[in-house]
Amino acid sequence: MMSDTPKLNFDTRWNYTAAPEDKSQVDLKETYGHYINGAFVIPEGADFMNTVNPANGEHLAQVAIATRTEVNAAVDAARQAFPLWSAMSGEVRGRYLFRLARQIQERARELSVLESLDGGKPIRESRDIDVPLVAQHFFYHAGWADKIDLIAPKWKSIGVVGQIIPWNFPLLMAAWKLAPALACGNTVVLKPAETTPLTAMLLAEIIDDCEFPPGVINIVQGPGNVGAEIVRHPEIQKIAFTGSTAVGKNIQEAIAGTGKKLTLELGGKGANIVFEDAALDQAVEGIVNGIFFNQGHVCCAGSRLLVQESVYDKVLRKLKDRLATLIVGDPLDKNTDVGAINSRAQLDRIQFYIDKGLEEGGEIWSAPCDLPKKGNWLAPTLFTEVSQSHQIVKEEIFGPVLTIQSFRTIDEAIEKANNTPYGLSAGIWTQKGAKIFEVSQKLRAGVIWANTFNKFDAASPFGGYKESGYGREGGLQGIFEYLSME
Ligand code: NAP
Ligand code: MG
Repeated sequence: MMSDTPKLNFDTRWNYTAAPEDKSQVDLKETYGHYINGAFVIPEGADFMNTVNPANGEHLAQVAIATRTEVNAAVDAARQAFPLWSAMSGEVRGRYLFRLARQIQERARELSVLESLDGGKPIRESRDIDVPLVAQHFFYHAGWADKIDLIAPKWKSIGVVGQIIPWNFPLLMAAWKLAPALACGNTVVLKPAETTPLTAMLLAEIIDDCEFPPGVINIVQGPGNVGAEIVRHPEIQKIAFTGSTAVGKNIQEAIAGTGKKLTLELGGKGANIVFEDAALDQAVEGIVNGIFFNQGHVCCAGSRLLVQESVYDKVLRKLKDRLATLIVGDPLDKNTDVGAINSRAQLDRIQFYIDKGLEEGGEIWSAPCDLPKKGNWLAPTLFTEVSQSHQIVKEEIFGPVLTIQSFRTIDEAIEKANNTPYGLSAGIWTQKGAKIFEVSQKLRAGVIWANTFNKFDAASPFGGYKESGYGREGGLQGIFEYLSME
């Protein structure tokens, strides 16, 4: 009997004919502004920021930067819309959300092309993962809207909610924020990230087409200081933030003592644990999906691989073989597996960690792929010969860089996995159900996947432990984050 899969000497790095999505799907405007009180606003004398396509550095559009005046106008509009929206029956609010979900599906192609253009993620992901999940979130919460009185009879809408989101899943994070807030009868002021402002404005067009009452949803654009204005605004009753742990801590400090409700979805450094009894080929797919999905710009990425010593060499070899087949390049090409790094600043940050990893004695391996000449690119990268004390093992890199360590026993795997200030996600690969139960009970992470990774569903609550934040998004738990006790 053969103990191992025979090595097949086929080179499967075929050249595929490029199959790029059609940019003309998107009606790109030269200038974008804000969406306030049901109107698209480009204030006179505004300052602008540029947004570029990270895959080639080309300018896409300019976007007005909100000042305190626009933030105040957005909060005022939301405050005035609140009595109407919160007094509507849940059934009627559900109809609006349902209509929005349907419109998102209708315009899915346009939304995914724009998401890939502005943010650099492969069209395969924006088309098959991001946008379908965006629609799912609105459908799911449309379904809850008329049942909230039944599940939470003593709870009520909070009021005006300020929502601040990052650039890694621009539309999806907007959906995670908007859908539960609106279902629960709150009104919203949302700020997208500076490098990915465009799909939020396309979403605003769709919201406008759905005839939401003016002021229920407001979107203001700008860099971090616009987020800080929202956080400090006295008429906002709740802040929902997704982003880095450092900014999350600032926000927590800024609202201390104000009585504002807060949810924080912050960074992570997820362990992906492969036991010797795992189906190794599937595990390798899960490792790739865990860290190279969305170029590793994923808070819950499986960025620390822990492999049982007896299968370490085999897993490493299989992983390198698999990575050599990944297609890195044009995000709009339907063949592409790994797209562009979201911004030059993020590429510099990742490079800083790569330099650090080398300085600390790590051994680097990069997938042999041809990178485009223009734009922000990095080949999928592995680091071996690293230990718990290395900075690249401890800190979130937020890019396509995986650290790999070995372990001998279950206890060692658990200890290494939990030895982090974060606690967002983890993965377990084993064919033994009992081991899944044992390990998952001991891992301190908000989301634990078994024999899969990076699977999301609107019905499943998502959130962190420790420095990964608190509060949950999605599921019934996520609904309660947008209600307050009477
Ligand atoms: P970030 O710098 O914290 O930015 C997140 C958002 O906050 C952006 O809209 C940003 O605006 C805004 N912002 C920046 N400074 C602010 C301030 N002082 N007050 C209020 N808002 C401010 O994070 P990022 O680098 O964009 O995103 C990556 C981080 O997000 C990673 O750490 C990742 O793990 C985390 N993340 C977590 C989850 C989760 O669910 N746990 C999901 C996705 C991402 P600008 O972009 O315009 O600066
Ligand atoms: Mg951009």
